[in-house]
Amino acid sequence: MNRTISGFFWISLYLLMVLFPILWMLIPPVPAGRSFWLEFSVALGFVGLTQIAVQFVLIARFQRVTAPYGIDVILRYHRQIALVAVAAILVHPVIIVIENPARLSLMNPFGGNWASRSAWVSVFALALIVVSSVFRERLKLDYEWWRVSHLVLGVVAIVFAQLHVSMAGLYTNTVWKQAVWVGTAALMVGLVVYLRLIKPALQRENRWRVAEVRPERGDTHTLVLEPVNHAGLRFEPGQFAWIKLGRSPFTIEEHPFSFSSSAECTDRLEFGIKELGDFTSRVGEIPVGTRAFLDGPHGAFSIDRYQAPGYVFIAGGVGITPIMSFLRTMADRRDPRPVLLFYAAKEWENVPYTDELERLKETLDLEVVYVLEDPPDDWEGESGFIDREVLERNVPEEEFPRMFFICGPAPMMDAVHEALGEHGVPEAQIQMERFALA
Ligand SMILES: Cc1cc2nc3c(=O)[nH]c(=O)nc-3n(C[C@H](O)[C@H](O)[C@H](O)COP(=O)(O)OP(=O)(O)OC[C@H]3O[C@@H](n4cnc5c(N)ncnc54)[C@H](O)[C@@H]3O)c2cc1C
Repeated sequence: MNRTISGFFWISLYLLMVLFPILWMLIPPVPAGRSFWLEFSVALGFVGLTQIAVQFVLIARFQRVTAPYGIDVILRYHRQIALVAVAAILVHPVIIVIENPARLSLMNPFGGNWASRSAWVSVFALALIVVSSVFRERLKLDYEWWRVSHLVLGVVAIVFAQLHVSMAGLYTNTVWKQAVWVGTAALMVGLVVYLRLIKPALQRENRWRVAEVRPERGDTHTLVLEPVNHAGLRFEPGQFAWIKLGRSPFTIEEHPFSFSSSAECTDRLEFGIKELGDFTSRVGEIPVGTRAFLDGPHGAFSIDRYQAPGYVFIAGGVGITPIMSFLRTMADRRDPRPVLLFYAAKEWENVPYTDELERLKETLDLEVVYVLEDPPDDWEGESGFIDREVLERNVPEEEFPRMFFICGPAPMMDAVHEALGEHGVPEAQIQMERFALA
């Protein structure tokens, strides 16, 4: 209930912030004698700009803002609403010119006045952000450099948009109105400074060290971290943290990984990491003693947030890591609630944690259903993919009121989500974690 209220509060605040420019414009003195379309286009520009400004708050990883929804949902929203904001900003000059074609000269990036030139720089930065984000994979842009350019271009866009607003002078005809717009832009630049400089500086006080790198089956390693000069980190089972490795917390490379260890153990954190790309393929070579910095815990995918009489966990591949955290935590807490785990993988030889899952059955009321894509000849269990038939064959009707947690490859998650919906499982009983934020 608290989270619902908190979610409602943040949505209301968001709406207020977005509508703020229009309310602010209406405070006298208001310029008289302007056409509806001119006023409308200015309102669009202001609302678009405020939306861009709010994006800085959304991506600043404030746990109070992200907790009610989950950071993946916030980032998905960020991607979609930012496009709406850019569209509003682009329509703003189009209406201005249609309303009075004499203003066409302002559309020349090298002509016009300083106000229009500033607008051009801002729009160009926004266009680069959109193209590099939408086509990042097709353009083969390195993830870390894309993130840095995203922030730099965002700052350029907001600063030059602010210059445009101040120089255009519409609705900034009092010191107070000017102060609010300049203050908003300064605040957003300040947020970037906080995220990239102040927060890493604070992380130096809470360093971690690599205590062990343990190979698991299926190209997976368990990275174990221990606190250096502090007591550790409290987290909820299923949450995740951004990890930076190396001497400096100011490094641009950081990766999100789910805690795979028990939330009851705060001074020895474990992360199950599957070799997939540049960084993850090198995890096995990380020397013990390497410095680490954590930003977390983040995320809302946790059994602690969704109490239920029992659980159905559905994991695919490395999506098992937050589920291991659930199970290890429940075992440490001697949690008696029944758990049914579906665990999808390609081949039996490459399924990590199978021995431990057998051991966990001794402490927990746990049943595991493996679903192998490529099963051995003598396999008697489920094969293929997790679909509606597999679920209905293994989940007795009386167990459908349980809470479902799904984590795995996107196609699996979408298929399982759809299958549960078709079976009539309410949306509120389904929690999902996607391992892709970009
Ligand atoms: C909430 C969350 C929890 C996760 N938990 C786990 C886990 O427990 N175990 C695990 O093995 N993997 C986990 N991942 C995935 C893991 O973060 C990526 O596999 C890893 O960052 C890829 O880095 P790379 O350099 O090896 O791959 P690359 O080849 O560089 O990248 C492959 C793709 O991974 C994504 N990616 C790369 N770097 C990052 C980054 N810094 N942040 C976000 N995405 C990135 C990009 O979409 C990229 O195209 C999780 C991801 C998220 C979002």
